[in-house]
Amino acid sequence: MKHGIVYLVGAGPGDPGLITLRGLERLRSADVVVYDRLAAPELLREARPGTELIPCGKEPHRHPMPQDEISRTLIEKAKQGFRVCRLKGGDPTVFGRGAEEALELAAAGIPFEIVPGVSSAVAAGAYAGVPVTLRGVASSLAVVTGHEDPTKGESSVDWPALAKAVDTIVILMGVERAEEIAGELIAGGRSPDTLVACVSRATTADQTTLVTTLGRLAEDMRAHGVAAPTVLTVGEVAALHPKLAWFEQRPLFGKRILVTRTRQQAGELSLLLADEGAHAIEMPVTKQIAPSSWDEFDRSLGEMGGYDWLVFTSANAIRWVRERLGELGLDVRSLCGPRIAAIGPKTAEVLEHHGLRVDLCSEEHVAESLGAAMAREGLSGVRILLPRAEEAREVFPDEARKAGASVTVAPVYRTVAADEVDLAVVSLLEEGRIDAVTFASSSSVTHCVAAIGEDRASSLLGGVCIACMGPATARAAREHGLEVAVQPDEYTIPAFVDALVRHFADRT
Ligand code: SAH
Repeated sequence: MKHGIVYLVGAGPGDPGLITLRGLERLRSADVVVYDRLAAPELLREARPGTELIPCGKEPHRHPMPQDEISRTLIEKAKQGFRVCRLKGGDPTVFGRGAEEALELAAAGIPFEIVPGVSSAVAAGAYAGVPVTLRGVASSLAVVTGHEDPTKGESSVDWPALAKAVDTIVILMGVERAEEIAGELIAGGRSPDTLVACVSRATTADQTTLVTTLGRLAEDMRAHGVAAPTVLTVGEVAALHPKLAWFEQRPLFGKRILVTRTRQQAGELSLLLADEGAHAIEMPVTKQIAPSSWDEFDRSLGEMGGYDWLVFTSANAIRWVRERLGELGLDVRSLCGPRIAAIGPKTAEVLEHHGLRVDLCSEEHVAESLGAAMAREGLSGVRILLPRAEEAREVFPDEARKAGASVTVAPVYRTVAADEVDLAVVSLLEEGRIDAVTFASSSSVTHCVAAIGEDRASSLLGGVCIACMGPATARAAREHGLEVAVQPDEYTIPAFVDALVRHFADRT
């Protein structure tokens, strides 16, 4: 019988990129994931399909699972032989009940592992430009809970001693008792002018930082509506916030931007958006599957020598061609003979990556540009093989045929609607919390509108910035009644992100 194990994994404070490599590996290999309410729900997508997901934190409309029931669940699942990932916010052992759960597991004889996480205690400061130590200014750090009432003698935190002994005091769970805590620290000898940084929802698009003083803490927190989750960092290091607030100063900070590309393709766009400070939310509305029939492509493989040009109008086509060759026990040598043409430098780069030298590449990623580049080489009597999406636009083959070429279109993949759209993302749209929706293809527009529902789409997407990567996509968006606010001059992902940055810069 398989032995179960429980991994107590720190998920980090919010930004999904702040989970550790080990944590991610444990999450990906788990059979069961037991999770608190996470600031980074995207992390759950990393679990394998079919993994049992058990929420136990304060979910909306749901009572939190009592601690003994959580421990019981972990033990039971592990006893059944499952690998259980217990995913916790921040670090599991910093006010995370990780120790309590580990003790229960140890008592029950269940193997476990603790995977440390990035605690909000330090991450909040890192993202707000408030480092917890600084040579010559702060050489000691305490992390304390503000949950216990400091004035009722029930607190296990010695506030007056802390006030004197420690330079930087980081308080978690301190919003409710901020006034009493500030009072105790002042009574303990800390000046009322000591700076305090209040960093809320740290490392997310909703991060806010308020810098005030111990003397004004409660009043300023009330005035600014500071609510949990907030980290209070008391000490002179808070003076660095205006100089080091790198995250909040990024051009797309605070913007939630939907990326509707397929999971495999979303990566680069999401990454570049995040680099500009945006919170990129992936909601694939399409997915790619094999074509209805491989006949045309398979036949072309036997006649490769008869073609003058092998033309790629998308990176996806290359991926699917490689996949098919692999399935047939072949490799790129089967593509010998014709010269190779690519639409735009990015497609050329992908081809080169697959070991295929590109003989001709159009400047822009549009069919018209490729058609013109090939026409310069002469198209009369030329035979072209075009492996591509089953449902693509006919612009390129039509133009090439008009110029006298014979074009064989070989479908190598199909774009269809994704199995289901993420309802959590749809509710963000409903709440008006999405700032922009990006579309990189006309099929993503069509499938997104269909997924949301044609009638709801105009109201849900009406007030949102619609960004389209190319002219055909923009046309499709307009056909669905959407007003296109952003369209880059150049059909590339960096240009697309630049255009979004300019759009939001102009509006502030
Ligand atoms: N184990 C967690 C802490 C759990 S206690 C960790 O290591 O981060 C919960 C408290 O953590 C909250 O009340 C708040 O003070 C702090 N906290 C957690 N995530 C936070 C975030 N993203 N922004 C600000 N504070 C956060």
